[in-house]
Amino acid sequence: MKQSEMLLPTLREVPADAEIKSHQLLMRAGYIRQIASGIYSYLPLGRKVLRKVEEIVREEMDKAGAHEMLMAAMQPAELWKETGRWNTFGPELMRLHDRHDREFALGATHEEVITSIIRDEVNSYKKLPLTVYQIQSKFRDEKRPRFGLLRGREFLMKDAYSFHESYECLDGTYQKMFDAYSNIFRRCGLNFRAVVADSGAMGGKDTHEFMVLSEVGEDTIAYSDTSSYAANIEMAPVITTYEKSDESLKELDKVSTPDQKTMKQVADFLGHELQEGIKAILFKVDEAFVMVLTRGDHEVNDVKLKNLFDAGYIDLATEEDTRRLLGTGFGSLGPIGVSDEVEVVADFAVEALVNASCGANEEGYHYTNVNPGRDFEVSKYADLRFIEEGDPSPDGEGTIKFARGIEVGHVFKLGKFYTDKMNASFLNDQGKATTMLMGCYGIGVSRTLASIVEQYHDDNGITWPANVAPFQVHLLSLNPKKEEQLQLADQLYSQLQEAGIEVLYDDRKERAGVKFADSDLIGIPLRITVGKQAGEGVVEFKVRASGEQSDIESGQVITKIR
Ligand code: ATP
Ligand code: MG
Ligand code: MG
Ligand code: MG
Repeated sequence: MKQSEMLLPTLREVPADAEIKSHQLLMRAGYIRQIASGIYSYLPLGRKVLRKVEEIVREEMDKAGAHEMLMAAMQPAELWKETGRWNTFGPELMRLHDRHDREFALGATHEEVITSIIRDEVNSYKKLPLTVYQIQSKFRDEKRPRFGLLRGREFLMKDAYSFHESYECLDGTYQKMFDAYSNIFRRCGLNFRAVVADSGAMGGKDTHEFMVLSEVGEDTIAYSDTSSYAANIEMAPVITTYEKSDESLKELDKVSTPDQKTMKQVADFLGHELQEGIKAILFKVDEAFVMVLTRGDHEVNDVKLKNLFDAGYIDLATEEDTRRLLGTGFGSLGPIGVSDEVEVVADFAVEALVNASCGANEEGYHYTNVNPGRDFEVSKYADLRFIEEGDPSPDGEGTIKFARGIEVGHVFKLGKFYTDKMNASFLNDQGKATTMLMGCYGIGVSRTLASIVEQYHDDNGITWPANVAPFQVHLLSLNPKKEEQLQLADQLYSQLQEAGIEVLYDDRKERAGVKFADSDLIGIPLRITVGKQAGEGVVEFKVRASGEQSDIESGQVITKIR
């Protein structure tokens, strides 16, 4: 492709609102342009890289036995009402009306759409298991769109869904997807880690997030320095419940009269810090109290909370009750019970909380990741606290360290969460109607692209790994006005194209300095410069990432590249 003909506007200055490297460099090197907050267009270079990432995703999905489809982006509200998510998803869901005043949403995710298709089309065990995927723009009205492509309001996602007869079968597909994800991120050249991100909310037990290790990541990972243990802690509250039989709960029951559930009360309450950075939210669920301690800066979404109050799902205990329960503070919580019976309550509460909280989340994600009882021992009267750096790893091997991560992928065993609500059942081999089991698997394709830039850049620009680079070779003719340079460069351009090597040819009438600077910025892995030695048939060969460079005969170019 000739650069002179391409829409490739580079910027010398860092755009004012671009805080992180991937955002700055993708803007400066002419890959993307913003059209509104969190909404971007991909210019030709950006489109090329996106395609490369998409292709890797496609290959690995196909290999794992998933079949590509494309679902409607515009979704009728009725579907979301079937699962209750029309109310619980909150303002993150982009909503619109058609000319007949019917309500729609722009797809933030496609569990409802795929489940409705499958329930209509699949009704026998003979057609199961089944895995489908799509690569499509998703819409989420994020509270804080930021960091360029990392948190957009329109972004490209690969979402896959699987349907099963049995848990064993779901387990098998989950593992295949897990492996496919590992291959995808490895092929993208990323330094990543799969972390446990257990959620009680979706009915399923297993969920993992794929985290790209990066300082700009919004998640915190707790990992063992010697074993494979790794979990997401950022939005992971520690959940404790007070067993009904417990004296303190009886006391509390007497005094607790949740009064007017005004939003002001909610706001005041949530602002109640127990210890620096740690907030407690006390819910009353049925008869039991459930305390959720959270840390991190995620905000509770008022509208979702209000919906839950209105629907009678949760009561917020008064602040007075909380103080009474807490005694002098965070360290003296008193008896903590984690039993099977209580867990049911906890799960329900988590679901309520997940639905209620954190505009930044798809329901069901994150909430019980680093978990007392599972990840560290909770004795009945222990001081409950979060896992910290330096703690022994819960698996008994090594010491806990923290790292920042960008969530690029998420695999999830949903179980019957959607299929139950939407009546997706099939006839098993005994002819008995049975609810399907489901899994879902997402990758932020555009977020992955930006994550690669976070890990592959230097002071001068991007340093793409070859697998995802927009082109393999950047061919520069330094002074196309000089006949011998123009001729040699044109000739190399043809040869490279004939050899099937993706080449960007900078044939512009620009100064050499501009060409070099742009080339470094754009970050194509190999550079061939046709300059002063063109007359002798000699060109400069340079590796962008390492800076390693040498003069070679023009006849050696193709061999050198391969
Ligand atoms: P986050 O915790 O960052 O808000 P999420 O857990 O809400 O992400 P999922 O519902 O799990 O996201 O969606 C699957 C994948 O889509 C995520 O793992 C992430 O890579 C990507 N993704 C989610 N939200 C965004 C966004 N606003 N911009 C870009 N990519 C996103
Ligand atoms: Mg989210
Ligand atoms: Mg998440
Ligand atoms: Mg997620």
